[in-house]
Amino acid sequence: MELLQECAGAKRIGISGHLRPDGDCVGACLALFLYLSKMLKEASVKVFLEKPADIFKEIKGFEEIETGFPREPAFDVFFALDTVPDRMGKAEEYFNGAVKTVNIDHHISNSGGGTVNLIRPDIGSTCEVLLDLMDRDRIDADIARALYTGMIHDTGVFQYSNTTPETLEKAAFLIGFGFDFPRLIEETFYQKTYLQSQIMGRALLESIRFMDGRCVVSVLTRKTIDFYQAEPKDFDGIVNQLRNIKGIECAIFMYQTDIHEYKVSLRSTEKVDVAKVASFFGGGGHARAAGCTMKGTFHDCVNNLSLHIEEQLC
Ligand code: 5GP
Ligand code: MN
Repeated sequence: MELLQECAGAKRIGISGHLRPDGDCVGACLALFLYLSKMLKEASVKVFLEKPADIFKEIKGFEEIETGFPREPAFDVFFALDTVPDRMGKAEEYFNGAVKTVNIDHHISNSGGGTVNLIRPDIGSTCEVLLDLMDRDRIDADIARALYTGMIHDTGVFQYSNTTPETLEKAAFLIGFGFDFPRLIEETFYQKTYLQSQIMGRALLESIRFMDGRCVVSVLTRKTIDFYQAEPKDFDGIVNQLRNIKGIECAIFMYQTDIHEYKVSLRSTEKVDVAKVASFFGGGGHARAAGCTMKGTFHDCVNNLSLHIEEQLC
């Protein structure tokens, strides 16, 4: 795929990513926004996302993200980044109404929902996929910082097995622009607010191990969430912390979204392909990190997940 060729002649270009946008999603949307705005001076480029966490506000373009989803005339080209189009929430309407749609992603569960698709499950982040599509001579420090954000978030700061020599070569190229990458990593990846730390503490304290200590689950009910006045973005990192427990092969973190509905995050170490588990419940993701939304009581959800996890652990 050639990014500028796909946008040839376009006057109105739109970009969006998935609901509850994470570092890769925000980084990819803003990197593409900055790049296309720079390269296509005659086009109007807009980014639409659910309001991202404030930790990302130092990425250039953050203030220009449209979070209100107003009525819009049809776009000439609409990009769905780091997601299948039906996980974009309200932006899916813009996508469906666009003349041309481009889907760029790295989720193995995405079979491609655009008129043009580039899905690279072998690549660790959508930002890494995007960097391959950009002219390196036209990348600047702002675009580099946006791309680097996505790369650190989806590779766990270059720790997960989706980190390749190419990933590190790209990271080396990006930090060459001289932005303050240690601070970016600290402030967007490791740092937690006091509220986040308290909730994480509570989720760890109340976690339950099962399957001979090979799985762990923790749940935050509506009542607890309301008590802390917390939001989904305050739960980032909990499931990874559960997965860090010695002996755990699969970690489940759930938070209640309705009376009998839970958003589920899954992480695994080596054996369990959690994208496969999530796909049974209409979700998706990667082999080591995936998610879905499930209906039923907490126990129904855990029982149903366990059946599929156990099958892979035997
Ligand atoms: P997280 O647990 O951090 O929310 O998500 C882990 C991975 O699974 C991410 O790559 C995310 O995009 C994907 N994922 C999470 N929830 C869903 C879902 O409901 N549907 C799909 N298709 N992917 C999901
Ligand atoms: Mn991603």
